[in-house]
Formats: sequence, structure tokens, C-alpha cells
Amino acid sequence: MQIVNKAFINGVFVTPHGTQQLELENPATGETITRVTLADEVDTKNAIAAANAAFKTYSQSSLQTRQEYLQRIHDVMVAKFDQLVDIINNEYGAPQWFTKFALQDAIRSWLVAKEQLKPETFRYHLKEGAEVILDPVGVAALISPWNISLWFMCVKASTAIAAGCTVVMKPSELSAQQNNAMAEIFKEANLPPGLINVLNGNGEVVGNELTRNPGIHKISFTGSTAVGKLLLKNAADTMKRVTLELGGKSPSIIVEDADLEKAIPFVLQVGLQNSGQACIAGSRILIPESREAEITAALKKGVEAMKVGPATNQESAIGPLVSKRQYERVQDYIKKGIEEGAVLLTGGLGHPDGLEKGNFVKPTVFVKVDNHMTIAQEEIFGPVLSVITYKDDADAIRIANDSIYGLHAYIAGTDTARAKKIAEQLQAGRIAINGFVDEPRAPFGGFKQSGIGREFGKYGLEAFLEPKAVFDI
Ligand code: NDP
Repeated sequence: MQIVNKAFINGVFVTPHGTQQLELENPATGETITRVTLADEVDTKNAIAAANAAFKTYSQSSLQTRQEYLQRIHDVMVAKFDQLVDIINNEYGAPQWFTKFALQDAIRSWLVAKEQLKPETFRYHLKEGAEVILDPVGVAALISPWNISLWFMCVKASTAIAAGCTVVMKPSELSAQQNNAMAEIFKEANLPPGLINVLNGNGEVVGNELTRNPGIHKISFTGSTAVGKLLLKNAADTMKRVTLELGGKSPSIIVEDADLEKAIPFVLQVGLQNSGQACIAGSRILIPESREAEITAALKKGVEAMKVGPATNQESAIGPLVSKRQYERVQDYIKKGIEEGAVLLTGGLGHPDGLEKGNFVKPTVFVKVDNHMTIAQEEIFGPVLSVITYKDDADAIRIANDSIYGLHAYIAGTDTARAKKIAEQLQAGRIAINGFVDEPRAPFGGFKQSGIGREFGKYGLEAFLEPKAVFDI
């Protein structure tokens, strides 16, 4: 069992003032693998003070200095690639291909941030004589969830420190080993004390302090819409700048002219990615009435061919859910789907055969789903897909947009012009046609209750900057 009993504050590992302990299990086996000591309000205040002290100097640092720090963190991570894969396998249990993809992306984020650092981004002249200067916004709280914690830590922190902010990170404490590994990387990269502080702690304790404390000037939050709303209210008193990346119920539209050989693998990949624990999961599959029988048969065949298993098995396409609590939550949604009259195409309640020990869920597809059912409106965050039929393109667009969320959408179709016409009418922050493109410079974020603001690329960088105009007549 690994003991995680330190907080990373002001460049050193310290024994937290908080004493509450939490035990974490390997999600594939149920074995206890971590005992973590949680930080409290005192630790949080200490981390905020360290970040504020560091901000005085760091906010004035040259772009070259920031580039050196970003490069150093990147290089330490590269050297630890295999060790980080093992930690994620053990603690989170996502399929190997997904873990490696996410880890490579996380490592690359330090270089993507480095590449954003151009003098003209931070200072430029307008034609009429004003000079625009973009200052770092201040100390940023980075609060993130457990569905590959390490990835969120990297994409958020790389952008924040590129902008000249110092940070206090509160990742999910369910990822204590990943959080600790990242803190060790920051230590090894020999950064200025207080530039990056990392706390394992509860949302109600550490998160709450971060959202209310006047020493925090910006919050970058990824998590549920419910917590995002609470955080926005709490942050209002001190007028913090807030970026919220929240939940989703993304549609995958299979257009009538789709080639099913390509469309089915695509919609299943995006629907069941990260074992369904993905804010961008295409969890509502919209199919034309005219091809219902053919498409549902192909979906059933496709899902039943996907292997469920632990990360240690290279063939696993779907892993366990992060915790028993998440397993129960997903079971409740499957029950609700059955009660509300949706029809099980495959999967259902309980564990898959032979996988009774961990938090494995049967990949489940419901058909005859009405878009107003709970399973079509609420985020399930597990391998459960809802198939909904539509009459024509306009009907597909109407159903796709009939959601409180608007994070992502996917379209599978042969006629690209037709697919693009559909895309233009969808209310979603990102729309992928016929494939998943990994472009870290494109804006990422949600319409409606999927969030406020954007991450990635210049949009993400600007979210950590405060523009001021100087007029010199
Ligand atoms: P939560 O919203 O429960 O938690 C997210 C983070 O917020 C955790 O670190 C949590 O700490 C913390 N938190 C909880 N309560 C508070 C509070 N009162 N004040 C401040 N911080 C708090 O989400 P989950 O961890 O369960 O993650 C799943 C959710 O994340 C899903 O809804 C998913 O859609 C969303 N998500 C969104 C993404 C996006 O980019 N749009 C990407 C990935 C996930 P603690 O762990 O202690 O509760």
C-alpha cells in the first residue's frame, strides 16, 4: 500500500495540518492500494500564501524563463513515462491505449503552452493608438476530477504558468497517487518555490476555501455541473475570474447516408471512451428511423465484440469504473432506463461474467429511448449508451440540441457538405465529423450548462490573462 501523507507547498513536501485519512482501492481488484492524508483549510491557506508570495516575482518573469520551466517539466515527465503508466493503471484502471494516449497528450501540453509564448500575445498596438497589455490574472486555483487526474493537472497548470500565474491545485483525492507523482515531477523540475502547489483534499474543505479565499483570483474548474454552479456562487463575492468545464450529454448523429463500416466503430469509440467516464462521451446515439433495424444490429455486434477487463490486459477496451460509488451510480441509471421503458439491446445490471471483484459494468445499450427519459438527459458517466431515432436531418438537430448540455457532438456521414450543414446548427463547443481529431490548439469548452469559457490554445491562455489598454496621446 502506498502512503501519501504530504502536501506540496512552497516547493517542499510538508506534513499537512489536516489529519483525515482516506483509503483508496484498485478499481479492478478492490484491493486497498493507497492511504492518503487530506489537507484542510490551514494547508489551503498556506498554499495560497506561498502562491501569492511567488506571484510577485513570477508574474514579472520573461517568456524565456517560463519556456525553460515548461520544457523542464516536460522532460521530467518523458523520463517517467513508464512509471506514470503503471500508476494510472493501478489507481484508475483505464484501458492501456487510453492511458497512453492521455499521458502523451498531458506531456505534450507543456510544449503546446511553451509554443503559445510569443511577445505579441502579451503586448500589441491597435491602429488608433492604444497599447494592449495582457497581465497574468493572479493566483489560480485549479480544481479537477478523477477521470485521468494527471491529464487535467497538466493541461491546466501548463497554461496557467505560461500566462505568468502561480497556482494551487486541488485534483480529486481519488487520484492521490497521480497527484503525488505530479508533485514529485514539479519538485524534480526545480521550479521556484510556490509556483505550483498541490493539495490532496476534499472539495467541501480545500475546494471551498479556494473558491472563497480572496488570495485566489482565478478558478479553472473541471467537474460536474452541480459543483460548478456552487463554485460560481461562492466565487462571486471576491469576483474571481472563473472557467468552468462541466458535464455533457453529447449526441452522435449517424446521418442517413452513413457507411456503417466506419460509422459504428466511430460512435462506439467516442461513446465508450475512457470506459464512458468522459465528459465528451457521445452517449446519445441518434439514428435515422429508415435504417433502425440495420444500425441497432450493427451496434449490438460492435459492443458485444468489445472486451471488458483490467488495464493489465492489453486487449481491454473498457475498464472498471473509478470507485464503488460510481459503479452504484451507473447501476441506478441502468435501473432507471429499464423502469422508464427503454429497451435493453445489450448489457444490463450487474457485473460482466468473471469480473465480479472490481467496479466493472456491462457495456450497455438502450434502444427505443425517448430523448426526455432520464438516461437521455442526465450524464451517466459510465459505459451506457442511449439510441434515439429521428425522422430527418432537421429532427436530428432538434433532438441533439434538446439538452441542458452542449459540450461536444459527433457526426458520421458520407456527404461531408451535409454533415457540415448539420454541424453548423448544433449547440456544442466541439463537433467531430467522421473521426476524433486531437488538436490541442482548438478551443475546448461548452455551450449552455456544459460550462463557461474555453481551454486550450490561445483561448485557454487568454483565460489566465487580464487585458489592459494604455492610451498615450
Ligand atoms: P465533481 O464536480 O464532484 O468534482 C470535481 C472536483 O471539484 C473534485 O476535485 C471535487 O473534490 C471538487 N469539489 C467538490 N465539491 C466542491 C466544492 N464545494 N467546492 C470546490 N470544489 C469542489 O466531479 P467528479 O470528480 O465526480 O467528476 C465527474 C464530473 O466531471 C462529470 O460531471 C464530468 O462531466 C465532469 N467533467 C467535465 C469535463 C469537461 O472538460 N467539461 C471533463 C471531465 C469531467 P472531491 O473529489 O473531494 O469531491
